[in-house]
Amino acid sequence: MDKAKRTAIIAGNWKMNKTPKEAVALLNEIKPLVADADCEVIACVPYVDLAAAVEATAGTNIKVGAENCHWAESGAFTGEISTGMLKEIGVEYVVLGHSERRQYFGETDETVNKRTKAALAAGLKPIVCVGELLWERECNITEEVIARQIKLDLWDVTEEELKNVVIAYEPVWAIGTGKTATADQAEEVCAFIRAQLAKLYTQEAADGVTIQYGGSMNDKNADELVSKLNVDGGLIGGASLVAEKFAAIVKAASK
Ligand code: PEP
Repeated sequence: MDKAKRTAIIAGNWKMNKTPKEAVALLNEIKPLVADADCEVIACVPYVDLAAAVEATAGTNIKVGAENCHWAESGAFTGEISTGMLKEIGVEYVVLGHSERRQYFGETDETVNKRTKAALAAGLKPIVCVGELLWERECNITEEVIARQIKLDLWDVTEEELKNVVIAYEPVWAIGTGKTATADQAEEVCAFIRAQLAKLYTQEAADGVTIQYGGSMNDKNADELVSKLNVDGGLIGGASLVAEKFAAIVKAASK
């Protein structure tokens, strides 16, 4: 399939950075710099920033995403946020299964799957993160790890629902470390993910899925990474907090 037919998405993952006021200030800096983007632009921000971010980006081409959501509609889940809460304030995307959630907060493929299904049922678009640890890459089991995550995280997700799923390939060893996967390594795994999707669904369905790369992507390396056939944009951590750097990555994905 022609790569140009897929939507390239550049999404910032702000992690635990920026207060609501700081979030509005950063978005106001980013807005004019990405106004003519020829790709989708998303800011995934901390829960308390979401309402302010939705208001600050109203009428612009920037969409807002959350960094997680719970699978239950409501109930005794202290500290959690439901999909309905996100929808009501105008959130469109949600990052799920980020390696920091898996590493520090006990997230498993089973909970990623529950969150993914709940997000889809509520009309949110999940950005499902998968990726291998350095140790797993060194043991030559990257493909096994990725195949398992794709199968489990998307368990019971229908082909129709898959149209609203974004996959982010984020090798854990490249996140926040300054170590980027080479463009060839990123392409190899993104192509593998697409092949897995084709096995689980159909080639046509797989060809339509946006597969991002994430892991120390910045204004210097974005061009080469996003030029690869199966890399449809990026999930950006550190560089998304600097307006000019984030805008340069958006520009690279707009070519
Ligand atoms: C991320 O948090 O998803 C990420 C890719 O971070 P960084 O760009 O800082 O490596």
